[in-house]
Amino acid sequence: MDLNVLIVGGGIHGVGLLHDLATRKIHGIHLVEKNKIASGTSSRSTKLVHGGLRYLEHINQWSLVKEALKERSLLLKLLNGVVKPLPFVLPNFHGDKRPPWMIRLGLFFYDLLAGDCGLPAATKISKDEIIHYAPYLNTKKIESEMISAFLYYDAQMLDDVIAKLVVEASVKLGASYEENSEVTQVNKIEGGFRVTIKSSNQERTLTTKYIINAAGAWCNENLLKWGMIPNIPCLLNLGTHIIFRPEAVKNGTVENSFATLIQEPDGRIVFFIPWFDKWLFGTTESILTSRPSQIKYPEEDKQYLMHTATEVLNLTDAEQNISEIFCGVRCMPLNNKTKFSKLNSNWIDNPYESPFYLNKLDKNISGLSRETVIDEPISGLFCIYGGKYTTYRAVGEKIGSLLSKKLKMGTLSGTHIKENWFIQELINEKPEIFKTSSDLRQI
Ligand SMILES: Cc1cc2nc3c(=O)[nH]c(=O)nc-3n(C[C@H](O)[C@H](O)[C@H](O)COP(=O)(O)OP(=O)(O)OC[C@H]3O[C@@H](n4cnc5c(N)ncnc54)[C@H](O)[C@@H]3O)c2cc1C
Repeated sequence: MDLNVLIVGGGIHGVGLLHDLATRKIHGIHLVEKNKIASGTSSRSTKLVHGGLRYLEHINQWSLVKEALKERSLLLKLLNGVVKPLPFVLPNFHGDKRPPWMIRLGLFFYDLLAGDCGLPAATKISKDEIIHYAPYLNTKKIESEMISAFLYYDAQMLDDVIAKLVVEASVKLGASYEENSEVTQVNKIEGGFRVTIKSSNQERTLTTKYIINAAGAWCNENLLKWGMIPNIPCLLNLGTHIIFRPEAVKNGTVENSFATLIQEPDGRIVFFIPWFDKWLFGTTESILTSRPSQIKYPEEDKQYLMHTATEVLNLTDAEQNISEIFCGVRCMPLNNKTKFSKLNSNWIDNPYESPFYLNKLDKNISGLSRETVIDEPISGLFCIYGGKYTTYRAVGEKIGSLLSKKLKMGTLSGTHIKENWFIQELINEKPEIFKTSSDLRQI
């Protein structure tokens, strides 16, 4: 076999696993990305490294929150500067779906699950304090409608930078990757797979013992194209963000302001975040029923966010100060496994109209779990569905450990060891990877 492990997809899950395997000193590992590293969902997130306060509303997601908070603490140490603490204010207005006692309880458990993480615990704050910390909020609304407010801590990141950093750190440890190359065909052979890779009109084949389909929203599309039947149907959840220029906020500066968690009247949560030199606002949630590539933001998502901006925020020339609007697509695996035994050619031509991509849901999307699901639809080929950016390292460690056992090679994972990140070396050799860019989100 040419390779031990081939990873399909250069989003955070793909590169995270590559890094994990490389730190275990497993050789013969390669990653193939059809566009650029992090050009998929991994450069289009809300850029929070967080446990997800609102997931505490679902008792079955507490273990995920706990794991994410543990990872938050670790990433703050490992990636100091690329991941940094972010204070949030959380105002409670008359009529909000979650009353102050519920918020207070949620924050108490959030801190409890985080343990001794180095970030200050949540506190109650006054009207004057909230206006001081988040001067971009609508002061009139605060004065007349706010009934209480809290301050708590989470963390934020440069999502595309982390993915590029992780892949380059893997290369330093002996792994390899290629961009602008697509895995177009996979055939099962004795002891592994034969794989066809297409890059700039050239095709080549190679053999590998294991394949990891870390293709996010494209996971089931890939399986169908490769002639395989998925076990896990998923729902594609589209989220839109608006990035505002610094001038959008007259009162206060990006560097000194705190972020705000806003409860919408329908109970949804949106964030207004000082994000490096700009302001990030989002996200929305709707079901995507088309291909996850080259999607334009839905106009109603923009309207929804702009409406909240006018109600809750005090922005100057908001429309003119929009710097970018972008969408990300989350693959949400559903519990009900499919039981199809024959491949229908219609599914290959129209994967997004197949039973493996659902286009409606009889409950609220927000209630679906953000947990990562790892499935093995055929022996030796694993798929990574769903998940959060924050927990990518833990997911890589889980799959890395499984592969290490199967291959009977490799040491323990070393992704928690700072030396395996080569940060100073990479700052000197490839300073461009530490700069976040909107280019990836244009792909
Ligand atoms: C709107 C939104 C906001 C979010 N905010 C947060 C947040 O604040 N914090 C957090 O922790 N999580 C957040 N998430 C979740 C997080 O962003 C995702 O879980 C994560 O980025 C998914 O990474 P991935 O590697 O699975 O997929 P992707 O990043 O989409 O990567 C998959 C890659 O596979 C490639 N690919 C597909 N098929 C092939 C093929 N055949 N050959 C080669 N390459 C292929 C694609 O080009 C793509 O680059 C958010 C998600 C969304 C949608």
